Amino acid sequence: MVYKDFQDLKLSALGMGAMRLPVIDGDDAKIDEAAAGEMVAYAMEHGINYYDTAWGYHNGNSELVMGRALSKYPRDKFYLATKFPGYDLSNMPKVKEIFEKQLEKCQVEYFDFYLFHNVCEMNIDAYLDEKYGIFDYLMEQKKNGRIKHLGFSAHGSYDVMKRFLDAYGDHMEFCQIQLNYVDWSFQNAKAKVELLKEHNIPVWVMEPLRGGKLASLPEKETSILKSMRPDEEVPAWAFRFLQSIPEVTMVLSGMSNAEQMKANIATFETDKPLNDEEMKSLLALADGMLNGTLLCTACHYCVSHCPKGLDIPRLLELYNEHKFTGGGFIAPMALAAVPEDKQPSACIGCRSCEKVCPQQIKISEAMADFAAKLKG
Ligand code: SF4
Ligand code: SF4
Repeated sequence: MVYKDFQDLKLSALGMGAMRLPVIDGDDAKIDEAAAGEMVAYAMEHGINYYDTAWGYHNGNSELVMGRALSKYPRDKFYLATKFPGYDLSNMPKVKEIFEKQLEKCQVEYFDFYLFHNVCEMNIDAYLDEKYGIFDYLMEQKKNGRIKHLGFSAHGSYDVMKRFLDAYGDHMEFCQIQLNYVDWSFQNAKAKVELLKEHNIPVWVMEPLRGGKLASLPEKETSILKSMRPDEEVPAWAFRFLQSIPEVTMVLSGMSNAEQMKANIATFETDKPLNDEEMKSLLALADGMLNGTLLCTACHYCVSHCPKGLDIPRLLELYNEHKFTGGGFIAPMALAAVPEDKQPSACIGCRSCEKVCPQQIKISEAMADFAAKLKG
């Protein structure tokens, strides 16, 4: 395992994200605890010492399961990160209550890393609003030793990040952003890395594989990559890209099964950054991949905001498939199992979902277009 220096710590360069743990019957709330526990055991045995959970992951069950799995190990053998759930504005007045509950759920007396979760357009005013006292409360917990390192994650624009940094940047020790070779340009991640560098804040990476999208590529792209590094698998390219960015300290991968974990750990046995030529080719390939697809990461933030109860990430996945193949049978076949009132045509265009989508996807337009294409 490659390790990175962070202050006086040695952090494994790969961290285990607990937002896509194995589940039972496809139900996101029902974590397969035995399988998740085996993954944690494998990770611990193979040098991963950083574990990232959050209040909202798996409908609140990720913190519980990770707490139980990690409680089997001495407290000084792992670093645990969780986050204040400010992606839901109703949580803003509840920082004390939530923080105390998180310690209880995770069965710990302190968090090694604690983040303001998902700083974005929707919540930046509230996060900066002193009446909620979130920053003051978290700083107090840091003083009391119940938070060792304070940081934030951001899905917002560059400008939103800048506002947050202008207010609290002097106290932020790390920042988690969505960074991968597609988002380098698409989500302006390059500029965000530079902004953080100006504040001397190291980068924690989320979505290195863009919700799994970069784990497998079409044949043409795969053969381009193979021609440059015959022994490197497609997902490893996403990690090699990140190993080429000096500001990156931590790469979090939300692994869903033991195979993914084994492959990712094997990749992080070595540090093999890309050379200039490889970097150029990879970024050109990323540009080509962006053509016409919606880059939904299946984070599920939008789902609870849809008054029609649509499974938005699944419908967008099918929409992408439908567009990419120019029709085909896969999307219509999958939709045949979906009730009438959960079809894309059931969307009423209210755009509630779009207000919370970190990827700024125009979901209502996609639903209307999808419905029209299916009808056609
Ligand atoms: S715009 Fe459509 S998909 Fe989005 S919340 Fe409204 S009904 Fe649901
Ligand atoms: S549409 Fe946006 S909010 Fe919804 S799952 Fe996809 S990325 Fe997440």
